[in-house]
Formats: sequence, C-alpha cells, structure tokens
Amino acid sequence: MYSDPLIIIPEMPQCSSCGRCCGHVGCSPGEAAKIGRYLTEHGVAWKERGLLLCGFLGRRNRCTIYPVRPLTCRLYGVIQEMTCPFFPEAARMSLPADRLVTMGYEADGPLLAQIFGGMP
Ligand code: SF4
Ligand code: SF4
Repeated sequence: MYSDPLIIIPEMPQCSSCGRCCGHVGCSPGEAAKIGRYLTEHGVAWKERGLLLCGFLGRRNRCTIYPVRPLTCRLYGVIQEMTCPFFPEAARMSLPADRLVTMGYEADGPLLAQIFGGMP
C-alpha cells in the first residue's frame, strides 16, 4: 500500500527466489487489512516457519500473498536502501526514509507474524 502514484517499483528479474530475504517484515494498518481480506477470499493462512522465516513463504519459496505483499517486500532488492546480497546491481533507485514514510512504509509497524501468526 503506497500513496505516491509517481513511484513505479521496478521488477527484479535477477531474483532467484531463494527466499532468504523473506524474514519477518512489518506492515501498515492498511496493508494488514488488505492482507486479511486476501486470506479470507483465497483460503490462505499463516504457517509457522520458525524465528527467521515469514509464514507466508510457501512452496518453492513463493509468496502466498504475493498480490498484496507489503511495500517492504516490493521494494526489497530494487532500492539502494535494501539491496539483495546476491544481486546488489538490481538496486536501481533510491528511496530515502522520509520518502518511504510518505508511501506508507512503517519501519516500526507490527510484524506480519504478530498480526497473522502467534508471535507476541
Ligand atoms: S531478492 Fe535476493 S535474497 Fe531475496 S529471494 Fe531474491 S535472490 Fe534471494
Ligand atoms: S509477505 Fe511474501 S514476499 Fe514478504 S516476506 Fe513474506 S513471503 Fe516474503
């Protein structure tokens, strides 16, 4: 969920879908609501994957909520503030913290695991 229509987040064709960046990410209230609706409509559920992995990481490291994944996930690897360690060259743009805030990114927002899983 972001509010800046001028920002187009590029794709990251280099991504090998290794899943290693799918740890515990936070989301905004709007994103959480959207994800909640998606879970109900598509019969998807959080599956506990331990302390290090997101519970929405599915088979073959596919995201089970891909169309409604948080902004953090969309930006990972393509902005210089969050580079992929395997394909750092994919980070072709920069979105400083203040710009991210205007887009709805909440660095201190609750984690998906807290909202949809059992993490306290
Ligand atoms: S962005 Fe990088 S770490 Fe994340 S799945 Fe792709 S290759 Fe792996
Ligand atoms: S929501 Fe999807 S893309 Fe984001 S960390 Fe979880 S599995 Fe990865």
